Amino acid sequence: MNASPKGRLIVISGPSGVGKSSIVDAVLARTDARFSVSATTREPRPGEVEGSDYAFLTRDEFIARRDGGDILEWAEYGGNLYGTPRDAVLALIDAGIDVILDIENEGAKQIRAAYPEALMVFVRPPGIEDLARRLKRRGDTSQADVERRLGVAGLQMAEADTLYDHVVVNDDLADAITEVIGILNKVPDQP
Ligand code: 5GP
Repeated sequence: MNASPKGRLIVISGPSGVGKSSIVDAVLARTDARFSVSATTREPRPGEVEGSDYAFLTRDEFIARRDGGDILEWAEYGGNLYGTPRDAVLALIDAGIDVILDIENEGAKQIRAAYPEALMVFVRPPGIEDLARRLKRRGDTSQADVERRLGVAGLQMAEADTLYDHVVVNDDLADAITEVIGILNKVPDQP
C-alpha cells in the first residue's frame, strides 16, 4: 500500500517591499496551500494580527523556542529574529497539505539544505530603484531601515539564480500572481 502523498514545502522569498505578501495572499486564496505563520521578535506593524501575521515573541521567548528545537529555520533580519515553527509545518505536510513559507534568504538556505525537494520561488522587482520607490511609498519604515533593506535586497538578488528553482519578476502584480500559481500547479517532470 502506498503512503498518502505528502504536502510540499514551498518557499516564496524576495526582498522586503517587492509585493511578496500580495502574491502570497493571492496564492492562498486560489489554491489549497496554507501559510506558515512565523515567529518574530519585531514589533507588530499597524494592522498586523497576532497569530495570523506572526507570533510576536520577546527575544527570550524566541530563543527558548529555538533552543528547544521548535524552529525549523531561523534568521536575524534588521536586528530582529524570525523563524518558522517546526511542528505546525510538518503536521500540515504529513496531512498532504502544501505549506507556503515567506522567508528571507538565510532561512531559505537552511530549508534548501534540510529539504532539497522544497519548491523555492524568488520574487524580484524589475530593478532596485523600483524597490526603493515601493519601500518609501509603504511609509511604515524609517529612512535608515529603507537603506538597510535595499542593501540586503541587492545581496539577495545576486544569490537568487543559484538558490531558487524559479525567479519571478514582479513588474505587474496580476502577471506575477499568475506566474507563481502556474509554477505551483505545474506537474513535476518524471525522473
Ligand atoms: P517583515 O519584517 O517585513 O515582515 O519581514 C522581514 C523579512 O523577514 C522578510 O524578508 C520575510 O520574508 C522574512 N521572514 C518572515 N518570517 C520569516 C521566518 O520565519 N524565517 C526567516 N528566515 N525569514 C522570515
